[in-house]
Amino acid sequence: MNTRRIGVLTSGGDAPGMNAAIRAVTRAGINNGFEVFGIRRGYKGLMEGDIFQLRSEDVSGIIQSGGTFLQTARSAEFRTVEGRQLAYEQLKRYEVDSLVVIGGDGSFTGANLLSKETNLNIIGIPGTIDNDLYGTDYTIGYDTALNTVVQAVDKIRDTANSHNRVFFVEVMGREAGFIAMNGCIACGAEVAMIPEEKNQLDKVRNYLSTRGDKKKSTIILVAEGIDEGNATEISQKMEVEFPQFEIRLSILGHMQRGGSPTAKDRIVASFMGIAAVEALLDNQRSLMVGWVNEQPVYVPLNKVIKMHKGISHEYVKQAESISTFMPPVE
Ligand code: ATP
Repeated sequence: MNTRRIGVLTSGGDAPGMNAAIRAVTRAGINNGFEVFGIRRGYKGLMEGDIFQLRSEDVSGIIQSGGTFLQTARSAEFRTVEGRQLAYEQLKRYEVDSLVVIGGDGSFTGANLLSKETNLNIIGIPGTIDNDLYGTDYTIGYDTALNTVVQAVDKIRDTANSHNRVFFVEVMGREAGFIAMNGCIACGAEVAMIPEEKNQLDKVRNYLSTRGDKKKSTIILVAEGIDEGNATEISQKMEVEFPQFEIRLSILGHMQRGGSPTAKDRIVASFMGIAAVEALLDNQRSLMVGWVNEQPVYVPLNKVIKMHKGISHEYVKQAESISTFMPPVE
């Protein structure tokens, strides 16, 4: 076989903009002389041999859709050496020697192991709404999710204002608080509770005890991953401690994952797809395409999975400097 073959899959949680990345890998791949194969349902579909050839026209009309047209999945079996060997055998059956994995931290941990255990060239593209991957300023889906949160919180603000209520709004972010913190800045929310910072419950207590009853409304954004409990538990506790306020809870949930991707998500995903194909043309083996200073960069996969990216304390302080509530200086 003379023509090299690329497989492309999406893995872990879906993120708006993944389709733009699949489309770019397919088109840039074909235009650079590769044959491109789509793999359905992530590593699970790969192990089951759910693999089919993608032509340029197969990826027409998908750039504006959220989700992933290849679908995605989680697979416990792929965490085992035997599972990954099975995945490798399936790729060999189709004579695919290169793989583009669009996903998050877990997907890249699996990709890194697969590249160590085989001779496959594997390139990762960061696709996760949480924006929590090291080596890149930006992950596909984050911009759309953040804008979805902003729209939802603006609506909650209208009803909160009308009733003088305090709202706890839970947003996604298990390991990092990018959605909560930047959602807070963009919506003018009063407090963000994020996993990177300590004593988040005390911060809320401080806020509520100094709030008074003049303020029309309060919005507190709560990232899923904070270690002092989830938004439901926190709002229940605060209802008991601050009975003078009408406290409500809203969990935005899966709506944050869906929707038509923003222009930014589509454009960055497209350039990442092109950069992934360029890395394969250059015979690179185990890299992630990152996005730094509005340009694609390459970062070794083993570095991406070892390091953590989160919101800095300095960033939080800056955000708090434009809030009505200034927590005590630490
Ligand atoms: P998201 O951030 O959106 O959740 P993710 O890529 O981190 O995306 P995971 O569910 O953590 O999502 O991982 C996706 C898949 O990657 C897992 O179902 C599993 O098949 C594989 N994977 C995760 N961790 C490992 C690991 N330690 N070893 C091998 N494979 C792994």
